[in-house]
Amino acid sequence: MTWQRRWLGLGWAVILGWAVSALGADQAVPAKIRVLIIDGQNNHNWRETTPRMKKILEECGRFTVDVATAPEKPRVPPKPKTDDPAALAKYAEAKAAAEKALPAYQAAMAKFRPAIENYDVVLSNYNGDPWPAEFQTALDDAVKSGRLGLVIVHAANNAFPGWKEYNQMIGMGWRSKDYGDRLKLDDTGALIRVPKGADEGSGHRYTGEFAVVIRDPQHPITRGMPREWMHARDELYDNMRGPIENVHLLATAYSKGTKAHEPMIWTVAYGKGRVFHTPMGHDVAAMRCVGFAATLQRGTEWAATGEVTIPLPANFPGPEKSSTAP
Ligand SMILES: [Zn+2]
Repeated sequence: MTWQRRWLGLGWAVILGWAVSALGADQAVPAKIRVLIIDGQNNHNWRETTPRMKKILEECGRFTVDVATAPEKPRVPPKPKTDDPAALAKYAEAKAAAEKALPAYQAAMAKFRPAIENYDVVLSNYNGDPWPAEFQTALDDAVKSGRLGLVIVHAANNAFPGWKEYNQMIGMGWRSKDYGDRLKLDDTGALIRVPKGADEGSGHRYTGEFAVVIRDPQHPITRGMPREWMHARDELYDNMRGPIENVHLLATAYSKGTKAHEPMIWTVAYGKGRVFHTPMGHDVAAMRCVGFAATLQRGTEWAATGEVTIPLPANFPGPEKSSTAP
């Protein structure tokens, strides 16, 4: 055997050994769940919250995460309340630039079509212009068929009031009081369905730390959580409105603003598909809450697979005190 052939033989042995061990590893560890976060337009700081959620998901080892960012909408600045000619000229210039950029934006937006066929679950961090009809239909079909899970976080539930199927997917969202019914619980835990027109439109009449109260401790997402846990400072969404079909309420939070227990974590059965929805997560500070992070990880896994394997961390908050990560 020449030295070349000996080296070749050794090379094959190494490759074969690697292939066998890779196969073995494949069988032992379940494939990672492929998550696609959609952002790019939001009245919240998506440039900070998307990387935070990506980190939360990736650090538990269960997910790979990609991001699809929609084209940025040209902004017309608010007209300054002044007679100062220099300020008015600057405003006119900015307004003209935004108007000039609009056709290119509209053309780019019309082509926005994230490759959802390559993912197990979509996490929406998007609150902006309507997606193209073709993409709306593709997402609707994928979720309804059970092939794709959907995760809705905070202001994503403000989006698309005119998209009927989206409103069915999210169950309820930030809408006017005439848009749809709302859910709340009284102090005995009784569920009250408030008809549209009654109570108020959606808002956050309380902002601060608040206790999340688990209403279904048997669900895979909430199993093992303390009955009450203290969430870090966040907007407490109230009076959320929608069709509220096939909604399963997992947790509520008492709002000092509305004096009612507001829905805070829920799932929606949409066709054969699964939607996980939390109105928590206004900013990175709120997302530092260990309870928020664990809920997001478990909710995303459940939306993708229908099961939860991710354990709760040891520093999960209790009823007295919030717990935050760096
Ligand atoms: Zn917010």
